[in-house]
Amino acid sequence: DNGARVPVLIIGTGYGGSVTALRLAQAGVDVHMVEMGMAWDTPGSDGKIFAHTTKPDGRSFWLRTKTKQPLSNFLGFPIDQDIPKYTGILDAEEFSGITVYQGRGVGGGSLVNGGMAVTPKRENFSSVLPSVDVDEMYNTYYPRANAGLGVTNVDQRWWESANCYQYARVGRKHAERSGFPFVFVPNVYDWEYMKAEEAGTVPKSAVAGEILYGNNYGKKSLQKTYIAQAKATGKVTISTLHKVTSVSPAASGGGYTVAIDQINTSGDTVATKTVTADRVFFAAGSVGTTKLLVRLKATGALPNLSSEVGKGWGENGNVMCGRANHMWDATGKVQSSIPTAGIDNWAAGGAFAEVAPLPTGIETYASFYLSITKNPHRAEFTYNAATGKVDLNWQTAWKQDSINMAKSIFDKINKKEGTIYRTDLFGTYKIWGDHLTYHPLGGVVLNKATDNYGRLNGYQGLYVMDGSLIPGNATVNPFVTITALAERNIDKIITADLGR
Ligand code: FAD
Repeated sequence: DNGARVPVLIIGTGYGGSVTALRLAQAGVDVHMVEMGMAWDTPGSDGKIFAHTTKPDGRSFWLRTKTKQPLSNFLGFPIDQDIPKYTGILDAEEFSGITVYQGRGVGGGSLVNGGMAVTPKRENFSSVLPSVDVDEMYNTYYPRANAGLGVTNVDQRWWESANCYQYARVGRKHAERSGFPFVFVPNVYDWEYMKAEEAGTVPKSAVAGEILYGNNYGKKSLQKTYIAQAKATGKVTISTLHKVTSVSPAASGGGYTVAIDQINTSGDTVATKTVTADRVFFAAGSVGTTKLLVRLKATGALPNLSSEVGKGWGENGNVMCGRANHMWDATGKVQSSIPTAGIDNWAAGGAFAEVAPLPTGIETYASFYLSITKNPHRAEFTYNAATGKVDLNWQTAWKQDSINMAKSIFDKINKKEGTIYRTDLFGTYKIWGDHLTYHPLGGVVLNKATDNYGRLNGYQGLYVMDGSLIPGNATVNPFVTITALAERNIDKIITADLGR
């Protein structure tokens, strides 16, 4: 409520925010979470909470009048379409050199992501978070995160014959024929539910291709794991369609004044509120948290923030591509939207490629991949006083490094198979999806802009708990690492700062 005072306010309900809420509540602290997106707990007129992948509507995108699908074309034809402007689930946020996809609503990215739950290889961890104790992470916090998220492995015997993983088996065959390690990857999807989907005994979700605009049944998003547990403590409240616009030291009595816009489903501000919080946790995601802090530093609300704020941002080296298979390597009309495996060429070529679905509902003879690469470039967010916005200086040309690394896998496979790249998925005669990322990381880097536990330098009681702490690359899909790091940091904060 306007004018309220709370012990803890958390900005954002993604991985970092959900871990923070649960652990603080379990320690006996009352927590208030503020989320700019919707609750996603009420069915629409079609009886479903989330729109279908092939029939986007207002629910699909965050305040856009036209879809901006990651794959913009099919057979060379543009596939984007007009939709009503609404506070939908997937934000395609455009900066000058890159479009950053993010989830909006209670659960953040867990609402829209593929659920791939990957713990980085231990030998790669020091490149991910150089100041963090490796043993502590692999003995305590990664296991805790995997348990909290409900991470499990697909039943490989079932996978070997499931129709909906034909595309992944073709992916394996091509990887192995070229000598690349093909690795199964854990997920948060309920595999028993997926088996029932494939068998036709329950309503379909993954097997019907649901993913980018939300998953109506089997995926264990944060709403079903951390957030459900946090709510069950009775100590956590969430305000949806509320967007934090400012945080500054309170004029009297200590703590921070937090300014919040309440918005309607068209995105218009309908009320402006202020709340005072003893402690504020920024968990608005890499882009959300960094944009806020860069602006608050530049405009004088939090002038003592470190000059490191805004720096060290990367896109996890994301690049997409498709390959055109021969007729004998059909990838299947039915493709589960939940990825199960990847091709690991990290050590030799700097790329880890997810064997991704292309759930179009028709046979495409295409293999599709999202590669995570060791792209060395890092961008910076800066405040633009003329526009009042925060800019990001990422250059599209920097993706050439990622393309070269991905080619270390796919040029070889194409040569071996006698196949070619698809050129019809990202435009006409365009092979590489090099204009986007699903994995924004960094901007408020751990042990640089914050101390080694996410405490913001310069302001006691302000913390960062999300993907902005990770300096640009996680070597694999990032949410398990974001969750594990949040588990580690909140553990320390609860004992050292709250004395519990
Ligand atoms: P987020 O999950 O982004 O949460 C931030 C929350 O804060 C959001 O709900 C946002 O609406 C809210 N917020 C932002 N600003 C404000 C504000 N000012 N006021 C109030 N609320 C605000 N990762 C994997 O590991 N495996 C995958 O398979 C995978 N697939 C992906 C597929 C897609 C299409 C996308 C987009 C991402 C995928 N990711 C995947 C990435 C993963 O989802 C993100 O890394 C993760 O969600 C980031 O967690 P976070 O806690 O940093 O922030």
